[in-house]
Amino acid sequence: MFVNMRRRLQKKGTRSAKRVLKRLAGREKRLINNICHTVSKRIVEFAVEKGVDVIGLENLNGIRKRAKVRKKQRYNFESWVYRKLQFMIEYKARERGILVVYVDPKHTSITCPRCYHVNRADRNGKLFRCKACGYTLNADLVGARNIERRTREFRYMRDSLGCCQPPRRSLEEQALFVGRGS
Ligand SMILES: [Zn+2]
Repeated sequence: MFVNMRRRLQKKGTRSAKRVLKRLAGREKRLINNICHTVSKRIVEFAVEKGVDVIGLENLNGIRKRAKVRKKQRYNFESWVYRKLQFMIEYKARERGILVVYVDPKHTSITCPRCYHVNRADRNGKLFRCKACGYTLNADLVGARNIERRTREFRYMRDSLGCCQPPRRSLEEQALFVGRGS
């Protein structure tokens, strides 16, 4: 997104370059806003179509502690975009009577969706392969599957026990987090 152009202008540093930078920032914001609106709308419409009553999103507060981000700038920008998207999903979902829960993403990218084994150093590149059971899946999908599982667990507890508290099980399973909107 405009990254190269911005870098060039920042290097220039002239007054007109700064003016262009400001305009770019505004345009970029609007573009991201539009994308977030479109994406969140489609997600919530899909959920309504499928009769979903709970949407699980990644609790982004966990990211800061977990990931070592070299470029602070990058973290700020990316998390701003994700938060914006989450906010839009949340309010659009609420309008349709769908609950949004925030799930702790801890270990979700390294936990086997089939046997729940935590594969500490096993993730390489685009493919996840479980050391314990050999299950293989696209690495991006592994995180999503685990977020989904934790969301299902929350839903199960809410429906069967009538409570909104995380289960008192292993640390891994306690990672379930219920956020705003509940
Ligand atoms: Zn496994």
